[in-house]
Amino acid sequence: MATYNPKSLLPEEFINDAEIRATIAYAEENKRNVELIDSLLQKARPQKTETGVTCSGLTHREASVLLACDIPEKIEEIYRIAEEIKLAFYGNRIVMFAPLYLSNYCVNGCVYCPYHLKNKHIARRKLTQDEVRAEVIALQDMGHKRLAIEAGEHPVENPIEYILECIKTIYSVNHKNGAIRRVNVNIAATTVENYRKLKEAGIGTYILFQETYHKESYLQLHPTGPKHDYDYHTTAMDRAMEGGIDDVGLGVLFGLELYKYEFAGLLMHAEHLEAVHGVGPHTISVPRIKRADDIDPNVFDNSIPDDIFEKIIACIRLAVPYTGMIISTRETEEVRRRALNRGISQISGASRTSVGGYTEEERPHDSEQFDVSDQRTLDEVVRWLMECGHIPSFCTACYREGRTGDRFMSLCKTGQILNCCHPNALMTLTEFLVDYASEETKAIGFKLIEEELKKIPNEKARAIAMQNVEDIKNSNRRDFRF
Ligand code: SAM
Repeated sequence: MATYNPKSLLPEEFINDAEIRATIAYAEENKRNVELIDSLLQKARPQKTETGVTCSGLTHREASVLLACDIPEKIEEIYRIAEEIKLAFYGNRIVMFAPLYLSNYCVNGCVYCPYHLKNKHIARRKLTQDEVRAEVIALQDMGHKRLAIEAGEHPVENPIEYILECIKTIYSVNHKNGAIRRVNVNIAATTVENYRKLKEAGIGTYILFQETYHKESYLQLHPTGPKHDYDYHTTAMDRAMEGGIDDVGLGVLFGLELYKYEFAGLLMHAEHLEAVHGVGPHTISVPRIKRADDIDPNVFDNSIPDDIFEKIIACIRLAVPYTGMIISTRETEEVRRRALNRGISQISGASRTSVGGYTEEERPHDSEQFDVSDQRTLDEVVRWLMECGHIPSFCTACYREGRTGDRFMSLCKTGQILNCCHPNALMTLTEFLVDYASEETKAIGFKLIEEELKKIPNEKARAIAMQNVEDIKNSNRRDFRF
């Protein structure tokens, strides 16, 4: 039997089934062990240092105890600490992005996804480069600066060359004052050589959801196609990092398997990346399964209620304090509002999950990947975020300034984010307001920016940021960054 070893490159050793089961049992035994829970909460709390704030995070075992804990006051404490951590490292900024579906051709048999090969009634589409350009213009005209490109797995229709060509096209489009400055990529597990090509194409984060860490279930949920290979899928991030990609994004599709199993597996994956590559995941996404063409989410009997979902988010926040956390438009406005206070740092807005969806007047449903619950416009989402006390940020500076991987983490750890990310968020929000926002959103936004500029601690950085905000308002100069 395989033994647990986070440093191993063998999936059965770093995502070790016996260790996950032992973790769940340990968490169950200790879920009302107040002394232990208090010590874990104390360990998770941000601590002040001479150079800033630091957080030690929690191991998968420790975080699993908190996830299992059912004492109401302790859960409230978990939520308070999650928010404290979020504010300490990410401030009140929320990074905005949108998905861009390139192609829904797929050779896999994933039973929860409408793009599965056997689905004959979904419209199959693949964008031409002209169509990519049109979609990007539509996204730029909303105000988006950061995309996550999505595609099914199809070696003939969507080979890596096609993905690379699309990335090139996306970066080449500048409509009015618009630009896509960061392209994250969510495509199937691939080779080191292909990851190297993606890196050379200037991608931001490589995102790949594990779907489930439970191997037996994984094999059943992915009965056919290259994605059936659990080991190849589970080691994708190791290959991505070997190919030079510093920023990788993990996630599971909640609802497929028991959430306690997925939670431990996810954190073990993060620990593995840290142990082997010296840097943990850049982001963790928390998608939940949704209705889609040919897919009824009710057939998956592990769906999780909103309160457990909220607790999962908060416990991830405590376990991996420096990792960004993403919530998509799969979730409703209300669930997103609560999740934002539990540690989420990135959200999508005005998403269309169909191929070619952004250039259609009406939201198309025929090639959609899943139902979108939050269907508000980007302007509405931005205004709502500000009304809820957050600063929507369209910043893409870090990776363009080479602050990826452990360099990004050290920025986080030394508390320099207030002199760097905060002004960048305010400057990019100014761009959004000037170029794309409604009058109502502008009024709220400019007032907020004026107040927030005063909070930049470094005098020089504050003066520069104030000047740049004025320049953006009074000219077509854009893309200032620290
Ligand atoms: N095809 C790529 C792969 O195999 O990883 C990734 C792109 S896929 C468009 C993005 C993600 O959508 C999948 O990894 C899956 O977790 C999620 N997804 C698929 N079907 C879904 C559904 N019915 N509801 C919610 N999310 C779904």
